[in-house]
Amino acid sequence: MWALVDDPIFLKHRCHEPHRENPMRLIGLGAAVTEALGEPTRLPVRPATEAELRAGHTAEYIELVRRSSREHGWLDADTYLCPDSCEVASHAVGAAIDAARCVASGAADGAVCLIRPPGHHAEPSRGMGFCIFNNVGVAARVALEAGWVRRVAVVDFDVHHGNGTQAMLWEEPRALFVSIHQWGIYPLTGPAHEVGGPGAEGTHINVPLPRGAGDADYLAVIARVVVPMLSRFGPELVLVSAGYDAAAADPLGGARLTPRGFAAMAAALREVAPRPVLCLEGGYDPPALKACLTAQVRVWAGRDAGPRTLEGEPSHAAASVIAVVREIHGIET
Ligand SMILES: [Zn+2]
Repeated sequence: MWALVDDPIFLKHRCHEPHRENPMRLIGLGAAVTEALGEPTRLPVRPATEAELRAGHTAEYIELVRRSSREHGWLDADTYLCPDSCEVASHAVGAAIDAARCVASGAADGAVCLIRPPGHHAEPSRGMGFCIFNNVGVAARVALEAGWVRRVAVVDFDVHHGNGTQAMLWEEPRALFVSIHQWGIYPLTGPAHEVGGPGAEGTHINVPLPRGAGDADYLAVIARVVVPMLSRFGPELVLVSAGYDAAAADPLGGARLTPRGFAAMAAALREVAPRPVLCLEGGYDPPALKACLTAQVRVWAGRDAGPRTLEGEPSHAAASVIAVVREIHGIET
């Protein structure tokens, strides 16, 4: 049985002016994912506690968010706040934590959290890139600190680099962080040679793909980098920063993934991460977001085998990035 977080509170974070990261992204998503999963268990939502937020963020930053979201305003040039934002963002973290606990304990076979605002750009002491608190990063830290699991992996295929999650797990040898992202776009971080801080070298795998990467490129990254690294690390819990802005129709990303490509990624990842916790990150074309997420969830939950291979080969440019990453991390399989 899979668990689903889908709650109207996540519609309450709204900008006072038109913004890509808006509640319309979630409209109809819960029904579509419910249909894709069959009969998921719905998880109740609650805000993260102060202690949980402190597992990933500084007390000063949490207080800044609390204070600043009393009215409409901006955390940075991209990241808006409204009077409900602190409450909504706390619930997004609470949902990721509860979904992680549910899967780690065996109470659920996997989970999908339809949460917003997204989180993977939020660093320990600053929000940015539409992100206030780092839902996945904090959930990973809580899962380790509470002793639910000994090793956790985060797989981030949002088209943007997960700089916040990287910062939050930089010196954590019990966490593996894999980010597949488009090189040269926001937030301009995540080169392949960044592999983790002191004591955690080799636990961060950055795969910066060229603009225009498509299904065959992503599937090659999964097969040649992500699957072997997850097999080597042996995580007891896999959190997925599930962003769908690498979809071809997305207005912010320059990648070209199709729902079939996302389904093929899930089919390959399922072999090494059969019980994932998917937390929504980006994805700014709502129809593409819905199509890609549901195609992926259907395969991950075992309701559809999904394509095991795809037509076409990875581009020369993507293949060379993959070769560099495999060299850096000593992947020989
Ligand atoms: Zn993104």
